[in-house]
Amino acid sequence: MSVKVQFNSGQNTASHNTEGWRHHSMYEYNDESFMIAQRQLDEVARRMNLDSGIHERLRYPRKSLIVSVPIKLDNGQTKTFMGYRVQHDQTLGPTKGGIRFHHSVNLGEVSALAMWMTWKCSLLNLPYGGAKGGVCCFPEEMSQGEMERLARRYTTEILSIIGPEKDIPAPDMYTNEQTMAWIMDTYSNFVGFAVPGVVTGKPVSVGGTQGRVEATGRGVAYIVKRAIERQVRAINPETATAAVQGFGNVGSITAKYLHQQGIKVVGVSDVHGAIYNPAGLDIPSLLHFVREQGTVVGFDNAQKIDGHEVLELDVDVLVPAALGNVITAKNADKIRCKILAEGANGPVSPEADSILRDKGVYVIPGILANAGGVVVSYFEWVQDIQHLFWSEQEVVDKLYYLMGRAFDDVYNLTQEQDMDPRTAAMVLGVGRVAAAKALRGLYP
Ligand code: GLU
Repeated sequence: MSVKVQFNSGQNTASHNTEGWRHHSMYEYNDESFMIAQRQLDEVARRMNLDSGIHERLRYPRKSLIVSVPIKLDNGQTKTFMGYRVQHDQTLGPTKGGIRFHHSVNLGEVSALAMWMTWKCSLLNLPYGGAKGGVCCFPEEMSQGEMERLARRYTTEILSIIGPEKDIPAPDMYTNEQTMAWIMDTYSNFVGFAVPGVVTGKPVSVGGTQGRVEATGRGVAYIVKRAIERQVRAINPETATAAVQGFGNVGSITAKYLHQQGIKVVGVSDVHGAIYNPAGLDIPSLLHFVREQGTVVGFDNAQKIDGHEVLELDVDVLVPAALGNVITAKNADKIRCKILAEGANGPVSPEADSILRDKGVYVIPGILANAGGVVVSYFEWVQDIQHLFWSEQEVVDKLYYLMGRAFDDVYNLTQEQDMDPRTAAMVLGVGRVAAAKALRGLYP
């Protein structure tokens, strides 16, 4: 079937595609997140003078699979969920990226996230292209048994396109170590032997690595530290303050390590609400509280504030670590931080990005700030392939080395070419893929 897809002509499309219309023979990708990801690529392509043929090839995912995922619910009914796996590019190696279970999941969102994974892996010099997957569902309303059946059936449906040399899934929103263990088990049973390297973010007991659970948050905190040390903005490290939006795996671990680094975390939020204490929250006690209560709300010695207010606090560092598109043209004016580190993927819309730039906020893009997860995923995959496992200290040292090097690459480019960090990170990420594509040529 050939579907005619309308694109906003000119500004959102490649310079060589001036007619504003094009035919795409698969299905529509014209979802908001995907348009944003494409527009970011188009802008950076223009800036880099990217070869138009290579630009064209990078604008769409290489492969997208849409699957039905029927499962038996606990009440005996059968329900079918929509699942996706999108592989954006495989120039540098097999594709890599998480799987999310969330009601926002659709083809466009997954495709945007897959494209960002390509730039993230390339920026960090990992031998991967980007991918992403997901199932549209309400995980909060599902039992453990239903989640297991969903994960296993989804794995079965995408089985032919994943594998340690093809495409390696990992955790993302509302998936975790247990989900990865089910995926590993389903794949392994299908092929008839244990294949730990098919997925990363597994429990250590089934071939996971030390340090993966904390990797993303640890990496965010490390990048923030490095940015403060480089004095990207005038912040006194002795008195620095931070706010973290989202208190799941990424937000809570980021808060833990910011606190350990001596940064005062004054506000945090989760889906239930937000808390604030200008003197600094006692993060170790808060982590304990959240483990018991399941929310930050009700924590002693803190004032309850509205969820959205956490983004608008007067702090040195802000870390949005929940959903995408939470800082838009509507609230960007109210943001008061000096450094914003994207713990989530795509929390700042392009309109908000330029407002923040004008306000002088130093925005560290997700493809750099939250890359710790996929970096340690890479270490896990390497260990699985070699059947040789590392200590937590080795993992953390190597994580900081790769993150520090990527931060410096981005920082140096911002200095040399007067670019904001997002543009610099994209120029590096896209540039390395494009250089490899030029060398490999166009098959056949
Ligand atoms: N889902 C994570 C991300 O967005 C990790 C991906 C991975 O480890 O492959 O970067």
